[in-house]
Amino acid sequence: MMNDMSRRQFGAVVVGSTAAAALAACTPFGAASSTRGVGLTVIVVGAGVAGLAAARDLYRSGAEVIVLEARDRIGGRTATIVREGFALDLGASWIHGLDGNPVTELVNDAGLGLIETDVESAIGFDAATADGVLDDAALARAGARLDAAVEAGYETEVDQPLQRVVDAAASGASASEARLIRYLAASAIENEYAGPLSELSAWWFDEAGGYDGGDAMIEGGYAQVPEVLADELDVRLGAVVTAVSWGDDGVLVQTASESFEADAVIMTVPLGVLQSGAIAVDPPLPEAQQAAIAGLGMGVLNKVFMLFDEVFWDDSVDWIGIVPPDGLDPWVDWVTVGRADDVPVLLGFAAGDLGRSVDAMSDEQVVASALATLRSAYPSAPEPIEVLVTRWGADEFARGSYSFAAVGSDPEMRDDLAAGVGERLHLAGEATSREHPSTVHGALLSGRRAAENVLGDLGS
Ligand SMILES: Cc1cc2nc3c(=O)[nH]c(=O)nc-3n(C[C@H](O)[C@H](O)[C@H](O)COP(=O)(O)OP(=O)(O)OC[C@H]3O[C@@H](n4cnc5c(N)ncnc54)[C@H](O)[C@@H]3O)c2cc1C
Repeated sequence: MMNDMSRRQFGAVVVGSTAAAALAACTPFGAASSTRGVGLTVIVVGAGVAGLAAARDLYRSGAEVIVLEARDRIGGRTATIVREGFALDLGASWIHGLDGNPVTELVNDAGLGLIETDVESAIGFDAATADGVLDDAALARAGARLDAAVEAGYETEVDQPLQRVVDAAASGASASEARLIRYLAASAIENEYAGPLSELSAWWFDEAGGYDGGDAMIEGGYAQVPEVLADELDVRLGAVVTAVSWGDDGVLVQTASESFEADAVIMTVPLGVLQSGAIAVDPPLPEAQQAAIAGLGMGVLNKVFMLFDEVFWDDSVDWIGIVPPDGLDPWVDWVTVGRADDVPVLLGFAAGDLGRSVDAMSDEQVVASALATLRSAYPSAPEPIEVLVTRWGADEFARGSYSFAAVGSDPEMRDDLAAGVGERLHLAGEATSREHPSTVHGALLSGRRAAENVLGDLGS
């Protein structure tokens, strides 16, 4: 249906120096017109993958859409820096599970190249063994103990932090096996789910689904995904949304200097931003959504990229695992990210408590901490010639890396977030995806779902 010109003006924004001035000058939900297809006007808050996916579907369906993004770039938690032709992904690196993954489809359609990596392509170090190499058989025994404790953790009457599960696995094990159990927990649990063991739910931490088919990085960097999604969209950068009001007739979205009226709003800001209360919502979100925002956890996974003069590590593998010697920080996972391009770069991960401490550490402190553990495997590792450290927890527009299932939460909380508030206010973003939280594909699908809901509610 072509626009009947009966809807309110969209984005005919009132510019004022303060939010109050903007509000005073803006007639909330006043009548004017949308100029596109279905006569529907939508504000999307956040130009990450969820927001851009929602905006793209709405725009293609004929709605008029403005995306308000606080940063001076799009992409949110997908961010790429290119140094001398080499792409460093500061946020998401991998398409996890290539088969049937909507990100794979998008990347293929855009003609982007993939760099497949394999977790089986790995070498492990343990300074406690005679030859310094990780003992695979001992690791398998430690893994079996941890698996059994995790299984038992699903069955308890009351949920508990995963730390207790890991402690139960380690109790009764030999000292060397207990070290391997803690190594596995840091690598396979904390580095995967980002939350600290002391906060992750033993019942729900690994509840989400996934795709088959191995993992791949994107040649040239992940930031190309949001760029593809943003094509043709009206994205306003530097637009920090401070307040959202909603009612039966429409919504009013405010930044410090502007107010936007529309039929509906889709908020895609990260869970950490919702938790911070940085955006005032009026009337407040219903109880179920507030409980979900408070109940789910926001984890921190940080990265350190270290550029060296030359490769000193085993460059025939994708992954290097290091069992941290006592007293050293658990920089347990390293990726030889420069392999495909022949660049001597290593990427190390810090999650859980270590991830959060990196937020407050200087680059020098991070290098000292990471290098100490790396040198337990490669004693002659030199100082890096360049270093790049992420601090996602300290980033005011992320306030963490991705959501996790905290003790006391349950997966239905994500459905509560996804449900929307009436017809006018919708939430999207990785934390609202019950099936694929904490991922780019979850964000993408959540944005598509929110767009579909808006069109279903208001589109005809
Ligand atoms: C270090 C790290 C590694 C990761 N690795 C992977 C991986 O390998 N594979 C994978 O699938 N996923 C990975 N993830 C997770 C993935 O990046 C996220 O799940 C996904 O990008 C989230 O997209 P989103 O659209 O939900 O949120 P975001 O990308 O965070 O988008 C939300 C947007 O809202 C904006 N915003 C915030 N506040 C305001 C405001 N007040 N006003 C206006 N705009 C605002 C933000 O700037 C941001 O652009 C990783 C994340 C991190 C941090």
